[in-house]
Amino acid sequence: MSKSLRWTREQTQALFEQPLLELLFSAQQIHRQHFDSRQIQVSTLLSIKTGSCPEDCKYCPQSARYKTGLAAEPLMEVELVLASARQAKAAGSSRFCMGAAWKNPQDRDLPYLEQMVAGVKALGMESCMTLGSLTDRQAQRLADAGLDYYNHNLDTSPEYYNKIITTRSYQERLDTLDKVRQAGIKVCSGGIVGLGESVTDRAELLMQLANLPAPPESVPINMLVKVAGTPLEHTEDVDPFDFIRTIAVARIMMPTSYVRLSAGREKMSEQTQAMCFMAGANSIFYGCKLLTTPNPAQNSDLKLFKKLGLNPENSVIEQTGSELVAQVNKQMLEADTELFYNAGR
Ligand code: SF4
Repeated sequence: MSKSLRWTREQTQALFEQPLLELLFSAQQIHRQHFDSRQIQVSTLLSIKTGSCPEDCKYCPQSARYKTGLAAEPLMEVELVLASARQAKAAGSSRFCMGAAWKNPQDRDLPYLEQMVAGVKALGMESCMTLGSLTDRQAQRLADAGLDYYNHNLDTSPEYYNKIITTRSYQERLDTLDKVRQAGIKVCSGGIVGLGESVTDRAELLMQLANLPAPPESVPINMLVKVAGTPLEHTEDVDPFDFIRTIAVARIMMPTSYVRLSAGREKMSEQTQAMCFMAGANSIFYGCKLLTTPNPAQNSDLKLFKKLGLNPENSVIEQTGSELVAQVNKQMLEADTELFYNAGR
């Protein structure tokens, strides 16, 4: 579909209704037209300010409204953030994403955020931040500091959105994406499957993303991580095939975007993850705490990559023989600090 054409509801619904294997075949063909099917972009996500968020996102343990036992932490010191970025780079990550549980950053935070971005860039990594809503000026300052990507998810369809979040409007989210785009920062925006939404809501979410003035360069598709104490704690599980289908439709509708397997991956079998890659997912998070929910140990990711013949994109592991894999595995197993999640222990 050309950029000037917009996806219609009927077209999107028709993709969701295709027989799964037909859909996977189409998605894989489109994927191979735009990407090397053996390359997976690997990002590491660090929570640089945890908890006490004033928003009411019903899935989120970081909201101050829910009793999840999460210990709130203030904005991390710049040097600690950069130490974590160095570890992520050593473990094969090419992008370092920094997330803060804020409605929006205050101007007083900007000098520290700018230093973090500049420090990550100096390591030769791509930088990404997710900080909530931004003003035009804040977006421009982050762009000037060298920020490559800004993450701000739409989460779900406009119709279902109010059942999940009431403290920030859908339009505010679209406005933030527009400010980020205007500042020249690449957009990372996606959503969550498993909020209790219908298939129509999933279709509407993907339509919103694909019909933005330019589709996001990066589209994270999350599976809900049900956290005790949040209102969505007891939501019904999603059939993995429905999740895979959502990935495939995202790939077809946004052929040049990186589609990222994000939160919820630790609960997925290797086979489900493999089918997600078949469906066109070509980016994952690994390593540091995935904000506040567990992420599979990095070495299990590398093992899966090896089984599937996949390589992390633009990283040291790309040139691997088994010796380098072993060395990187060792680095990852040793990289167990309070900042760096190691589920292998
Ligand atoms: S998802 Fe983000 S904005 Fe919503 S409560 Fe969690 S940290 Fe706050």
